[in-house]
Amino acid sequence: MKIAVVGAGVAGSYLINRLDGHEVECFEQRQQEKWYTVCAWGTSRPYISSMVKKVGLNFDDYVLHTGDKMIVDYGTGSFEAPLKGLVTYDKHRLCEDMLKGHKIHWGTQVRSVDAFGDFDMVVDATGMPRSLLPKVKDDILVPCLEYQVRSSKLPWDDFYIRPYRGMRGYFWFFPLGDGTAHVGAGELNGAYRGELEAFLKKYDCEVIRKIGRPVRIVPPAYCQPFTNGKAVGVGESIGTVYPMLGEGIIPSMQCVETLVQNLGDTERYSEEILKQYDIYAKVFRFVKSKIDGNFSLVRNFPELFAIYMHMRSNTERYGLETHLSDMIKLSHV
Ligand SMILES: Cc1cc2nc3c(=O)[nH]c(=O)nc-3n(C[C@H](O)[C@H](O)[C@H](O)COP(=O)(O)OP(=O)(O)OC[C@H]3O[C@@H](n4cnc5c(N)ncnc54)[C@H](O)[C@@H]3O)c2cc1C
Repeated sequence: MKIAVVGAGVAGSYLINRLDGHEVECFEQRQQEKWYTVCAWGTSRPYISSMVKKVGLNFDDYVLHTGDKMIVDYGTGSFEAPLKGLVTYDKHRLCEDMLKGHKIHWGTQVRSVDAFGDFDMVVDATGMPRSLLPKVKDDILVPCLEYQVRSSKLPWDDFYIRPYRGMRGYFWFFPLGDGTAHVGAGELNGAYRGELEAFLKKYDCEVIRKIGRPVRIVPPAYCQPFTNGKAVGVGESIGTVYPMLGEGIIPSMQCVETLVQNLGDTERYSEEILKQYDIYAKVFRFVKSKIDGNFSLVRNFPELFAIYMHMRSNTERYGLETHLSDMIKLSHV
């Protein structure tokens, strides 16, 4: 098949390496020198390593910091979540390496599938804008801002997060090694305004880079359709982001694998995606009930317990140990 992949983020750059035997071209809106992967670069090493191996690369070559614990500050107290594989890695360099040797049309913003008359299939890997798919009804996009910083006075040497009230987002500190870190925040109403700048001042930070974009937390079940004529969505364009954490790297790569396994059969692809990300819909309803102020621990306990069981039985996938008592503490935020 002749396949166009629109978007050179983690989903697009991974996908073009998973389409052996096909004629593939990638279209990216940014010029090569301005292209950047906006992200905090946190992921689970055991899980991502096997996928990166499939494209002939060694994930360990990109690891910047291996986590031991994550401090979770929930306002009235804090707990330490033991980490089981959570790392930060140079996501930008890994994406760059995955793009090498492929035909990339830099600086090409795609607005419609009509431009691809001679292609058999067009993949929408554009992430948040989902440029080739219909708009999501009741979409939820959480604005985020992040600084990559350097300082000798950083307050933590491991992962730290502080959720905002009503689970409307969180502040994060992800170490990148050698006195550098990603310090960022996402909140539905941008309630972090000024907070990050105060942090920079307080800890005497040199700003290496300031980036930001909203992240979609509406899961696949609410992001349908996944197709539009010969266009088919993959990654964040169809909501493969874990709603409670805004974590989208591994889910977007998993989504690519599902697309590759069902290439040419969009109906089966859509069915598989709905099954695969069913738990994300549960997590989303939990987060939504918090956002809307409708959460009750008694009423929503079965949902909370299902999420806990999922995360507990997928420790390697999330890279951290989950305890029910901690989940309950978080549900009060
Ligand atoms: C601030 C922030 C921090 C995050 N931190 C983490 C984290 O630590 N760990 C984690 O797992 N997830 C994190 N996420 C989520 C994760 O980064 C995304 O879910 C994931 O990168 C989605 O990958 P994608 O390839 O689908 O989309 P993207 O990475 O957004 O890539 C889309 C690409 O398409 C291009 N594009 C868009 N529109 C067009 C168009 N019309 N034509 C051509 N090209 C186009 C864009 O320029 C971009 O290069 C974070 C998100 C944000 C915003």
